Amino acid sequence: MNILLLGSGGREHALAWKLAQSPLCDTLWAAPGNPGIAEHATCVALDATDHAAVLAFCEEKVIGLIVIGPEAPLVDGLADSLRDKGFAVFGPSKAAAQLEGSKGFTKDLCARANIPTGGYERVANEADAMAALQKFGAPVVIKADGLAAGKGVTVAMTMPEAEEAVRDIFAGRFGEAGAEAVIEEFLEGEEASFFALTDGSTIVPFASAQDHKRVGDGDTGPNTGGMGAYSPAPVLTADLAGEAMTRIIAPTVKTLADEGMPYSGVLFLGLMLTREGPKLIEYNCRFGDPECQVMLLRLESDLVELLHACAEYRLGSIQPPRFADDTALTVVMAAKGYPGTPEKGGSIEGIAEAEAGGAKVFHAGTAIKDGKLVANGGRVLNVTARGESVTEAQRKAYAAVDAIDFPTGFSRRDIGWREVAREAGDA
Ligand code: AMP
Repeated sequence: MNILLLGSGGREHALAWKLAQSPLCDTLWAAPGNPGIAEHATCVALDATDHAAVLAFCEEKVIGLIVIGPEAPLVDGLADSLRDKGFAVFGPSKAAAQLEGSKGFTKDLCARANIPTGGYERVANEADAMAALQKFGAPVVIKADGLAAGKGVTVAMTMPEAEEAVRDIFAGRFGEAGAEAVIEEFLEGEEASFFALTDGSTIVPFASAQDHKRVGDGDTGPNTGGMGAYSPAPVLTADLAGEAMTRIIAPTVKTLADEGMPYSGVLFLGLMLTREGPKLIEYNCRFGDPECQVMLLRLESDLVELLHACAEYRLGSIQPPRFADDTALTVVMAAKGYPGTPEKGGSIEGIAEAEAGGAKVFHAGTAIKDGKLVANGGRVLNVTARGESVTEAQRKAYAAVDAIDFPTGFSRRDIGWREVAREAGDA
């Protein structure tokens, strides 16, 4: 089968690496791809917002499966355009992708389906938002409704901070994504991510992970797309994962199907493990980046078989995903300046040396310039290793990071710290 993978980040490099290993994969195409993806796929310049161009490509190359990596094309309805012409697509429809595209949509769905999540109010103007803030009191969370590249959420510890976030949204800081907002109850606990595959009726658990959103060691500094992750996340015990499946995922999938918006693809849950059990913070409609990298490193099943079964609504007819029972951990190497304005063009050397010890280096924002690998984005590399414990995976990942010569780059030095501390306590 010929496969088209859309995207260009570390997540897509991991997907390409794993898809290309499958005996079911004939030619793997990637659009636009990156230099790491190019080791496994033929990269083409296709604009995912041009649905007609993507369709024409799929017809010409006789594509049997399209895997949509990032959220924007899903929220934009690319999966619908392709399915309408009979193609098998991994990723939800525009209607179902509202789970990520509209925070208000998801909160209303949780209310209808009695899914545990924080209390909330949807607001469409500054005055209503300010009134809602008064009702909740600080700390409180303010969210632009639409896609805002991970920047639309403010966890405000004080009222002045909360009021500033509201003014920002309604002054148009996030454009259309901030036409509406959600004011939300502050939830306390430890965060974890959980992933499940569904074809709209069958649901299979995939894996858990924990990421590190802040740019600095000790979870300090501004939020980023994610500076590192590990999987599985032991904090999300089998019992808690089971609770997330029955109390959150199952009613979500059923409600969407009952309401004519069946969800096919991966569900990515951001969970807060509160004293009352797991509560939903948010849904994403695609694999996490960098969570995907650590999950796929441990995946023993054939990824093409899994994603194709999802796309063809026959997930119940294949074996559920199997994972190695060790841990994988990834450290993001970013370009100085990230998450503000990252320095572009910095040279990168030593990837082969880093991988010689068994690590896997996924490319995110890289490019080839004059025959040499250079930085070309905020998050540049995902240095990923496996170990019997988080502590061991962390040690191997940082040994690989230290083998890479990227003078204009930086990374956090404490990815996995929560679990490393717990493992030290257990010893
Ligand atoms: P989101 O984009 O919705 O995942 O929010 C980004 C981050 O804000 C989350 O990863 C949490 O750390 C934090 N956050 C979001 N909602 C809440 C909430 N209701 N209570 C506490 N923290 C939250």
